[in-house]
Amino acid sequence: MDLKSMIREIPDFPKEGIGFKDITTLLQDGKGFKEAIKRMADYCRDKNIDIVVGPEARGFLIGAPLAYELGAGFVPVRKPGKLPGETVEITYELEYGTDSLQIHKDAIKPGQRVLVADDLLATGGTVKATVDLVKELGGEVVAIGFLIELTFLNGREKLEGNEIFSLIEY
Ligand code: 5GP
Repeated sequence: MDLKSMIREIPDFPKEGIGFKDITTLLQDGKGFKEAIKRMADYCRDKNIDIVVGPEARGFLIGAPLAYELGAGFVPVRKPGKLPGETVEITYELEYGTDSLQIHKDAIKPGQRVLVADDLLATGGTVKATVDLVKELGGEVVAIGFLIELTFLNGREKLEGNEIFSLIEY
């Protein structure tokens, strides 16, 4: 199945010059969505993953079904003010300014085996911050998986030392 053909590219979104990879066209295709999650799960079935962690918001769309398929738990990483319990927070650099993400303090126990999952790897900032939150709680990041990787942005460099996989490359 050609999953790449199910990704729609929207020119100049969210701003001029950016070719946005729209995953909703894949998600709305039942066979495509199932195949994408199956392929990501196949990559890590033998890794004994305890927890899949996904950053808001598209990381939920990939991470939750992936966790379900693996029989693992799912833990959301969210923008500040969304999680009701006690949280740990990280602030990271954007092109202009900074952003912050939070995780529930008790969501991961030391030594648990974690897969970090998101829809797309661009510069790597979002997932690097997510990995750092997992490590702060004592989780072991076993692998990082993406549906899409924009290889020309070299996001892998920011995630050096981790095992990384993606299904679709641009
Ligand atoms: P990074 O932090 O790696 O620079 O950016 C990746 C994050 O931004 C991901 O959470 C992803 O959801 C979002 N993102 C950036 N560009 C795109 C895009 O073209 N398509 C989609 N679906 N998400 C994007």
